[in-house]
Amino acid sequence: MKMERAVLSFSPDAIRRPVTYLLVSNYKLRLNILRAKVMPGEEGRLLIELSGDKDKIRQGLEYLASLNVRIDRVQNFYDVNYSKCKEAKKCFQVCPADAIELRPEDERPVDIIEDNCILCEKCREVCPEGVFTFTF
Ligand code: SF4
Repeated sequence: MKMERAVLSFSPDAIRRPVTYLLVSNYKLRLNILRAKVMPGEEGRLLIELSGDKDKIRQGLEYLASLNVRIDRVQNFYDVNYSKCKEAKKCFQVCPADAIELRPEDERPVDIIEDNCILCEKCREVCPEGVFTFTF
């Protein structure tokens, strides 16, 4: 059993297609939606976690790509400005997903663990120095 996270971006037209349903029914994948942004007339985004057979995950993602759904890594939607960090550790305290890594006195004293991050932006909200930016 493999698990994979990805951010899916849909054109306004593609939003009408039941792609998440098809991933489950045609490829026998377990699908968990971790974050969604869908607005009428705009590009839609879903952060999903897929689990199932490795080949089925690959086939399912290829199927999405054939529908012009863009598939990105989670990392493409956040940026960490290491030089601004004053090690307040507020991000570490609020992160609900164990996705903040602290490395005291390192030149990169804070980082996001991509595999855990759910792009909730709570770290950005509490950081007094503006270390984190998101583009979900
Ligand atoms: S976006 Fe949310 S889950 Fe990701 S590192 Fe920040 S607080 Fe944690």
